[in-house]
Amino acid sequence: MIQEYQLRVLPEVAANEQRLKDYLVHEKGLNAREITATRILKRSIDARQRTIYINLNVRAYLNEMPKEDEYQHTLYNNVEGKPQVIVVGAGPGGLFAALRLIELGLRPVIVERGKNVRERKKDLAQISRQQLVNPESNYSFGEGGAGAYSDGKLYTRSKKRGNVDKILNVFCQHGASTSILVDAHPHIGTDKLPRVIENMRNTIIE
Ligand SMILES: Cc1cc2nc3c(=O)[nH]c(=O)nc-3n(C[C@H](O)[C@H](O)[C@H](O)COP(=O)(O)OP(=O)(O)OC[C@H]3O[C@@H](n4cnc5c(N)ncnc54)[C@H](O)[C@@H]3O)c2cc1C
Repeated sequence: MIQEYQLRVLPEVAANEQRLKDYLVHEKGLNAREITATRILKRSIDARQRTIYINLNVRAYLNEMPKEDEYQHTLYNNVEGKPQVIVVGAGPGGLFAALRLIELGLRPVIVERGKNVRERKKDLAQISRQQLVNPESNYSFGEGGAGAYSDGKLYTRSKKRGNVDKILNVFCQHGASTSILVDAHPHIGTDKLPRVIENMRNTIIE
């Protein structure tokens, strides 16, 4: 059986699965022996008061294990020999367009004016250390696009064009933490983003 709960707990409870299970036993009357697993579906921080709370939407699995994966996996079939589509730019728009084209059975070829995401790092260092700007590889130009080296947060919650869950799942498939699927303010992290972008590039090339 699966049961879902809206909880308001202390950070140390939210961060520890065993303490979360104990909380469900004591506060919600669940039987400890029946809880096989818990999964956090949504998480937000309430820091308005002196005591900080975490709001959680939690799913408890009773006498059964989760059947679904932690994220939804997209299948990218081989598109060798399929009609070619030129994609200009390997920013987020270009990378996601290329992945979507593969899903649709087309073969994307990306044309990018800047350097790859790792090489860009050296050019960014040159900007801050020597005030020298490479016009083709900088904060705006290069694989990963603008913002790849600024933060890597994912605050978009536009509902007008559908939800962004698919995008978040594709990021997870390419190495982002699954916490981005549950956090109210998801954040990949600039330290992790280059690896995610490289993995996306490898999927496209494969
Ligand atoms: C400093 C900064 C920080 C940001 N921080 C965040 C953030 O934390 N979170 C967030 O969600 N958004 C952030 N953004 C916004 C985000 O970066 C953009 O919304 C996003 O990059 C747009 O994606 P895009 O693919 O449409 O365009 P771009 O990212 O601009 O990608 C365009 C790509 O095309 C390439 N290109 C351009 N001209 C040519 C050409 N003639 N031939 C071949 N290739 C070409 C460029 O090199 C680039 O790689 C930030 C933006 C900036 C500038």
